[in-house]
Amino acid sequence: MKELVAAVREYGIGIGSDIVKVDMFLNHRMDTELYVKIGQAFADEFLQYKPDLVLTVEASGIAGALTTAIACGNIPVVFAKKSPTRNVTGDVYESRVFSFTHGVENHIRVAKQYIPKGSRVLIVDDFLANGEAAEGLCDLCRQADAEVIGIGVCVEKSFQPGHKKLAEAGYRVLALAKVTGIKDGRLLVED
Ligand code: 5GP
Repeated sequence: MKELVAAVREYGIGIGSDIVKVDMFLNHRMDTELYVKIGQAFADEFLQYKPDLVLTVEASGIAGALTTAIACGNIPVVFAKKSPTRNVTGDVYESRVFSFTHGVENHIRVAKQYIPKGSRVLIVDDFLANGEAAEGLCDLCRQADAEVIGIGVCVEKSFQPGHKKLAEAGYRVLALAKVTGIKDGRLLVED
């Protein structure tokens, strides 16, 4: 998506060899016009597979999930909650996810009633790195007997294995911007 690629090029910062910071428009300050276009781009790709709901994980996935769900005709957004330890109560699906950015293991969980059996689920997240978050969300869908009809990520770090892992597992994956590397703090971004 050319507008997102342009924003990553203009404002994105590389930290070390593998962290991409896009606080100017995605993760801290949110560019609402850009987020609306992101939602439309995911809807353009995935609406043909008739999603019933959009699933993401708190907190940074929620904005893109919301604009996507609106663009898909006002379907619901369900966001998995994170907790650092196992303190789960009630009737929930739960999966373990290793957080790339924070270096800790989280338990993500969703109340069972919010992913009805047989739902067609579109997963949306802000970043794809090693694929842990997306795999955890797919795992929740598996437990719910729901079908993942696609995975949309705003920014993929193509030098990490997430996209390949998910594609090999048979999922449709769309990344709207692809960072192919980081050199001296500058991002290499695919056209
Ligand atoms: P994965 O689970 O694919 O390894 O990492 C994706 C998750 O970690 C996303 O939910 C995102 O919030 C976070 N993440 C991973 N890498 C980055 C990064 O370079 N920058 C930012 N801002 N978030 C990242």
